[in-house]
Amino acid sequence: TGVQTCALPISRRIVITSGKGGVGKTTVCANLGVYLSKLGFRVALLDVDIGLNNLDVIMGLERQVVFDITDVVSGKCRVRQALIQDPNNPSLYVLPSSHTYASSKITGEHIKNVVDIIDHSFDYILIDCSPSLGLITVNSLTAADSVIIPVQCEYFALEGLGKLLSTIKLIQKRLNTELEIEGFVLTMYDARLRLSNQVVEEVKKNFQDMVFQTLINRNTKLAEAPGFGQPAILYDASSRGSEDYMLLAQELINRNQE
Ligand code: ATP
Ligand code: MG
Repeated sequence: TGVQTCALPISRRIVITSGKGGVGKTTVCANLGVYLSKLGFRVALLDVDIGLNNLDVIMGLERQVVFDITDVVSGKCRVRQALIQDPNNPSLYVLPSSHTYASSKITGEHIKNVVDIIDHSFDYILIDCSPSLGLITVNSLTAADSVIIPVQCEYFALEGLGKLLSTIKLIQKRLNTELEIEGFVLTMYDARLRLSNQVVEEVKKNFQDMVFQTLINRNTKLAEAPGFGQPAILYDASSRGSEDYMLLAQELINRNQE
C-alpha cells in the first residue's frame, strides 16, 4: 500500500502517564500506536495498567488474549507468545495487562527485561500506565526514554501535574538520568469553550515548546469507538479525532528526527 518503512536505529520507549485519571492516556496510546504503525513504524503497546478500559479492549483485541504481562514476568510464557498482532495493522502489537492479577509483582527490572527483549523488533514501544504514581509507573519511567503527558482541557487540568513532575525529576536524578519529557498533549479540547482555551494557554505558558502543537479535540467518535471494539481510526477514519491523532503521530516523528 505504498507505506514507507522508516525504521529507527533503536526503539524509542515512551511512557504515557498523567498523575490524573480519565484524561485520555489509553486513547492516546491506542490511537498514536495505530498511526505510528500506519506511517510505517513497527510499534508495540505495553499495557501495565489494571483498569477497566484496558488497551486490548480499546484495540478490539481482547478476545485474542491468551497470555498477559504477568504471565511473561512470572515465566509462564515468552514475550513473543503474549504479544498480540493487530490484524488491521500488521506492524502493531499489544502486550495486554492482566485483568485479574495484582500488578504489584511487576518490578522495574521486569519491565526493563520485557522492553530489552523486544527492543530490536520495534521502532516505538508505548507503555500505557495507570493514573497513580505507584511503583509500576515509577518502574516504567525508569525503563523508558521519554514520557508523554496527556492533559485534559477541563477544570483542574493541572491538578496532579506538580506531583508527576517532581516524581519525574526524582527519577531523572536517581534512577534514569536519560529520561526526557517527550511532550504534553492537550486532550478533549473544545474550541468553543473559554475554559478549553484557558487551559491551552495555561499549559503553554508553563511548559512552552514541550507542549505538542497538535490539539486532540473532544470528539464523540473517539469516546464511542471502544464500545465498538475499535480504535477511532477504524471506527471512523475520517473523524476529527482520527485526523488529530494522525497529526500528533507526525509531530512526534518530526520531534524524534530533529
Ligand atoms: P484512566 O486514568 O482510567 O486509565 P485514561 O487517562 O486512560 O483513563 P481514557 O480511558 O483514554 O483515559 O479516556 C477516558 C474517557 O474519555 C474514555 O471514555 C474515552 O473514550 C474518552 N475520551 C478520550 N479521549 C477523548 C476525546 N478526545 N474526545 C472525547 N472523549 C474522549
Ligand atoms: Mg487508561
